[in-house]
Amino acid sequence: MKVALTVALGDTRIEERPDPACGPGDVVCRVLACATCGSDVHGPYVARKLPAVLGHEPVGEVVAAGADVAAVAVGDRVAIHHHAPCGECRRCRHGHETLCERFRATALDPGGFAELVRLGPELVAELLPLDGLDPVAATVTEPLACALRAQRLCGPRPGDSLLVVGAGTSGLLQIAAAHVRGIEAVWVREPDPERLARAEAWGATAHGNEPVDVAIACTDAPVAIAAAASALAPGGTLCVYAPPAQGANLPVDGWAVFERELRVTASWSAGPQDMRAALLALQRGAVRTDELITRRFALDETAAALAAQHDGSVLKAVVIP
Ligand SMILES: [Zn+2]
Ligand SMILES: [Zn+2]
Repeated sequence: MKVALTVALGDTRIEERPDPACGPGDVVCRVLACATCGSDVHGPYVARKLPAVLGHEPVGEVVAAGADVAAVAVGDRVAIHHHAPCGECRRCRHGHETLCERFRATALDPGGFAELVRLGPELVAELLPLDGLDPVAATVTEPLACALRAQRLCGPRPGDSLLVVGAGTSGLLQIAAAHVRGIEAVWVREPDPERLARAEAWGATAHGNEPVDVAIACTDAPVAIAAAASALAPGGTLCVYAPPAQGANLPVDGWAVFERELRVTASWSAGPQDMRAALLALQRGAVRTDELITRRFALDETAAALAAQHDGSVLKAVVIP
């Protein structure tokens, strides 16, 4: 099979590899579509993984299922999650399932930017049938699940107000996730007029100085994080959603945290329940996926897809092997 191997940031090559073997508990999928993500081109975040076949938002069609596999059959079209928590350890029990040691130990073999992907038994247990959803639209399952998880953890409840800071792909998906969760007061801060207009079309209102219950920082820009923190009402929660630079201090006033009993937290990745909720929302048409995914590339063009993600000429690109 062909894979797109990223050797270094900005250097992705097509390589021939043996087709993956399907063990008794495994499933092998033909990748139908896999979207690019900002994290695929985020230097410090991705550098520690390289060389690697990237792509963690794949959708596939089952082409082989091991003898022990009952949940799916050859021909099924499925959304695929890249990691699986154990559900039982201390971290899982405390709601930090994406920090579970098994979560980090499981992985796609080799990754989504490949013709075929093998899934071990832990990931097979989490395959989600598309039930007719378009495979390209279904690539949004994982990023929407990440947004839903952040809001599940940070707790905006119906009646609360939410501020989304930064209206790139993550910010737009936070706006969509808020609507899925029944949050009506959704504010947005975004300096770029075009992005702001899109966020407003997605159902957010430009923020002035209204106090909010929850603020989600979808950018690592210190000035934006500071604005998010200072907008919080007493008892409010700041969610750090984009990875700040390693070693960087958060620009949050310690006195304000004390005086207003603010909570500062983060959310990384998504768990199985978030994946299920995200796919359901997509099947109900809750996200304008065609506005997010504006360009399609063949597997041979994965380097160009990642370059488009990197230079910001697309919100998301999709590779169709
Ligand atoms: Zn991602
Ligand atoms: Zn666990």
